[in-house]
Amino acid sequence: MPYHNHTEKKSADVIVIGGGVIGCAAAYRLAKEGVSVLVLEKNEICSGASGRNAGGVRQSARDVRELPLAMYGVKHIWPALSEELGVDVEYTRAGNLRLGRTAAHLEKLSELAENSSKVGLDVRMVTGGEAREICPYMSADVLGASWCPTDGYANPLTTTIGFYKKALSYGAVFITGITAIGLGKVKGRVRNVYTDDGVYEADRVLVCAGYASRAIVNTVGIDVPVEREDEEVFVTEQLPPMFDQVLGTAEADFYGHQTKHGSFLLGGVSGLQHFTSNHDGHPTEAYTAPSLVRGIIRFFPSFAGVKIIRNWSGQFDSCVDGVPVIDNAAEAPGLTLAFAFTGHGFGISPSVSIALKELIMDGNSKTIDVSGLKYDRFAAKQ
Ligand SMILES: Cc1cc2nc3c(=O)[nH]c(=O)nc-3n(C[C@H](O)[C@H](O)[C@H](O)COP(=O)(O)OP(=O)(O)OC[C@H]3O[C@@H](n4cnc5c(N)ncnc54)[C@H](O)[C@@H]3O)c2cc1C
Repeated sequence: MPYHNHTEKKSADVIVIGGGVIGCAAAYRLAKEGVSVLVLEKNEICSGASGRNAGGVRQSARDVRELPLAMYGVKHIWPALSEELGVDVEYTRAGNLRLGRTAAHLEKLSELAENSSKVGLDVRMVTGGEAREICPYMSADVLGASWCPTDGYANPLTTTIGFYKKALSYGAVFITGITAIGLGKVKGRVRNVYTDDGVYEADRVLVCAGYASRAIVNTVGIDVPVEREDEEVFVTEQLPPMFDQVLGTAEADFYGHQTKHGSFLLGGVSGLQHFTSNHDGHPTEAYTAPSLVRGIIRFFPSFAGVKIIRNWSGQFDSCVDGVPVIDNAAEAPGLTLAFAFTGHGFGISPSVSIALKELIMDGNSKTIDVSGLKYDRFAAKQ
């Protein structure tokens, strides 16, 4: 049972719904500017996707609409985030190899790399031989890869908790064990947040509750085509240091990296998760482990015999076009949307928080271009 830390405080300048990395980071940026912030979290801080992901901080293979956020973070925020937050976020920038074993894979990777390099990202295609020079453990099956030397990874738990603690230090208030049920308008503006603990009030409301966000914003007539998706992460036994790069595949059927203490963190799906009886938030390891492991061994034969010691499942907010919504809702003044991250929101979270702070305080995001992530992109065009 989540612990409900009751408070008398039921109003603030800004109410944030959801205490994941997005909510905690936004709360930090706003509270630092002197804004009073109240974060409402249904379970515990960092109990959703933010505490369950694989920590990839990737720019490559992203939709170009998201790239300004990804590139800004890698250039301006991630390198000094440990100092900024006062925790070790374990940020490591050693590159990302996205691997292809077929001509179709290489075609897909080349197109992604070409689109990203057009907007200034240093990403290029390498041959199988060049990929093996970067990471010698790969099988001869790897025909080529995209290579982005400035990609990397970080620890999602210390990052999220770091943002949370920093937000607390600037006076943000977090209430856990409270469920936001819907929103209400007062004089045409979103002001009320209806919860299982009564009505809370704020001048502005930020909804960043992952896949649950859709139902919450539906209550004021806003809709974003998002649905829940499940993915799993496995941890191997500790192994001697092998390589620092993050690995992925053209089909994104697995991804991962070796952590500082030697275990590999590997994520992926079986493809069967929609059809298993225990779909509701429970791991499907009976299906996923064998399929993931078979796939990995095809790329990395030396993984045969390595033990998996732990696994978990996570749920994320999958959007129909694969990129988030980061926007003020014009039809519901006072409401800001930040969800639909589609399984890759951790890496961009530090930049997203800057965009959110500006959207909430100034009405638009000046520092980072998020114009491709508006919610009305789904509106009927005729
Ligand atoms: C297995 C897996 C692997 C991933 N790997 C990567 C990766 O390598 N790199 C990457 O960039 N991203 C990755 N992601 C995606 C990343 O984890 C998410 O995009 C990111 O954590 C989103 O943060 P968030 O704060 O929006 O969501 P969450 O962390 O899910 O936070 C939302 C919060 O809202 C709360 N909530 C829900 N409903 C309500 C309500 N009604 N009232 C109040 N609170 C509510 C939830 O309890 C939750 O704590 C992965 C995700 C998964 C599941």
